[in-house]
Amino acid sequence: MKKGAVIAIDGPSGVGKTTVSKRVATRLGYRYVDTGAMYRSLALAASDAGVDINSDAALRDYCARVDISYNAAGNMLLDGVDYSGRIRTEEAASLASITSAKKPVRDFLVACQRRLGDEGDVVMEGRDIGTVVFPDADVKIVLDAPHGVRAERRQKEFEEKSLAASDVGKKIAERDRRDIERKNSPLKAAADAVVIDTGSLDIDGVVNRILSGIKNRFHIGEA
Ligand code: C5P
Repeated sequence: MKKGAVIAIDGPSGVGKTTVSKRVATRLGYRYVDTGAMYRSLALAASDAGVDINSDAALRDYCARVDISYNAAGNMLLDGVDYSGRIRTEEAASLASITSAKKPVRDFLVACQRRLGDEGDVVMEGRDIGTVVFPDADVKIVLDAPHGVRAERRQKEFEEKSLAASDVGKKIAERDRRDIERKNSPLKAAADAVVIDTGSLDIDGVVNRILSGIKNRFHIGEA
């Protein structure tokens, strides 16, 4: 089995990236890294610390002084605090959408992500993994689905977790627009990525399609 592979899975909100990426990682016995959770955690931590999240200089200072570690579950801790219990809220999503457009935040988290990926055998999900974080990733997948399908999925997720949510479709469209239009690492498919429409396939169908592509091209076996 090939060792040290990096599998990049990118795409917009509500496209099923997290479920698909976790399953691919489990089936291969690879580490799973959710970079969206890193952007969300950092945004919450900076906001809790009273940092002006609209200021590049304040965010640069914060990134220079915050201590990053990881717990056994793989969650990123900031100054020893695990924010994973709060990252799925609307507050975290809208804070992250603002801070993730800031260069100091991107430079800082991309460096953290490269350190994790350099260990190899990793499935990393995000917006810019195949374009910026690991342009030489062994496998590049972009998941996509129509806006209506993604909004419906997100709404269901909030309901299942009993989290407050309003105007989910409008907020997703707004976050997508910021992710696509931002100057720093905008969301776009790498030229050599395989694009899969998750609107017309169920989760297992998407996972199996990714795994069969990986096995055929790279002779990576399942765990
Ligand atoms: O994927 P998720 O919805 O958890 O990501 C939260 C936010 O973090 C996104 O709206 C996006 O702005 C940002 N993000 C990013 N680059 C990544 C992962 C997430 O800009 N690699």
